[in-house]
Amino acid sequence: MNNPNIEVDKKIMSEIYIKSEPMDNLIKLCDIYESRWPGTPGDLKSVKYMVETLKSYGIENAHYEAFKFIGWERGEAQLELKSPLKRRLDCIELPKSLGGVVEGKLVFLGDGPIEVYEEKKDEIDGNIVMVTSRTPLGMTRSLHRSEKFMRSVLAGARGWIFMNHYPGYGPPTGTVAPLIPAIGVSHEVGTFLKRRLDEGEVTVKIETTGKNVETETYNVVCDIPGTSETDEYLLSGSHYDGHDISQGALDPASGTVTVMEMARVLNMVKDNLKRRIRLVCFGAEEMGLYGSYNYVLKHRDEIHNMRFMLNLDSAGGEGRKGVIFNGHPELEPILHKIAKEVKSEMPTGQQVSPYGDLWPFFVEGIPGGGGGDPDARQRKGGRGYGHTRYDTVDKIKLENLRLAAANYSRFLFRIANMDDWPAEKKTEKDIAEFIKEKGYEDTIRLTKRVKEYVSKWKEIHPETKIWLETTPTEDLLAVYVPYKFNS
Ligand SMILES: [Zn+2]
Repeated sequence: MNNPNIEVDKKIMSEIYIKSEPMDNLIKLCDIYESRWPGTPGDLKSVKYMVETLKSYGIENAHYEAFKFIGWERGEAQLELKSPLKRRLDCIELPKSLGGVVEGKLVFLGDGPIEVYEEKKDEIDGNIVMVTSRTPLGMTRSLHRSEKFMRSVLAGARGWIFMNHYPGYGPPTGTVAPLIPAIGVSHEVGTFLKRRLDEGEVTVKIETTGKNVETETYNVVCDIPGTSETDEYLLSGSHYDGHDISQGALDPASGTVTVMEMARVLNMVKDNLKRRIRLVCFGAEEMGLYGSYNYVLKHRDEIHNMRFMLNLDSAGGEGRKGVIFNGHPELEPILHKIAKEVKSEMPTGQQVSPYGDLWPFFVEGIPGGGGGDPDARQRKGGRGYGHTRYDTVDKIKLENLRLAAANYSRFLFRIANMDDWPAEKKTEKDIAEFIKEKGYEDTIRLTKRVKEYVSKWKEIHPETKIWLETTPTEDLLAVYVPYKFNS
């Protein structure tokens, strides 16, 4: 097959393979600046490092944009088995959990399939739920922790335990909402509790002390200018914040350094680039997509000139480097043609998830996709070492970072230069239909149901109150309301 972009490809590929920039950056971000969790000392330092590094690549417009939101500070957490045995058990608090003390009967819901919360409502009401991190068998989409948490709250749970379904990886983390105390436990602690339950009634006590607090964090933004007059541009990004208990090496830093590497090599071929490519490293994804929502709010005036959004969260891990589009089958033949031209395997799929940085762009109607392998995603029942303290630099291979940068930079270059672009912005109706098709219709209404339910509580914690005020749910597109800070 003829490759009209052969000279550009030679430049991109040789640059990627004679240097080790993504691995050098990964080590810096993870070893020096640690988790980059909003509010930690490494956050702003890592952001300044990213900006300086991008500038050293010759991208003078690299900068960061600060924003405030309600973040979360970790505190000590305790889990105590009260009966039939007395025992202190290892646990960690889940981000955005409410600080507090609860005691109650333990109700184990296994992998927590959607029906079980209603079925066991009487048992759950007033008690403490434990559920695993695995997606229940037979589901065609993944069942996110947040959804299991929200459904537990709706069934009356007063405390929540998230049990790792992988042995040997410690307690999992992951954000919930400031409604009830919530903790993570290892597979081993979880199975110990389950064995006690097999014998009869079990009572546990949870104590959490974390705080939901005003926090400042950042988006790192830079542009590779295009040569044409058009306002139309493309955006690609990955969040840079990892979970506070980990280095966040796979999730997300392998994606962050892929975005930085694409910036470096695309800047070298910018004389041949027609449309501008904007590259963004989003902050505060793990606490609830705050970086991407704030980006969309701040750049509303130009958001509709965006041709395509490519999200590369965790893109430098194992597996093929394809694209899972957010409901744009017309883009699959284009990617297949590009894959042939660049002599690389780039599988395609169609999916959408309310739990990634593509979502705020998707609900604006913007065509987009996430990097990854659609087949592997289908088979996956969970995150492995992701969201545990074992998501560390040693898991990441330079060859995977290189492949991600090589595939996605050549893909972006080509779609930035295409004159005929078949993907149209989705209307509100299209968006709703795609969400329904993918089985998320009920999921996105959950927050509204939880809000209505929680509003009727006799006592509402101040942190819960702020959550109620800042979590919009009236209609699908009004997904985010920034908290009004006094200062
Ligand atoms: Zn991530």
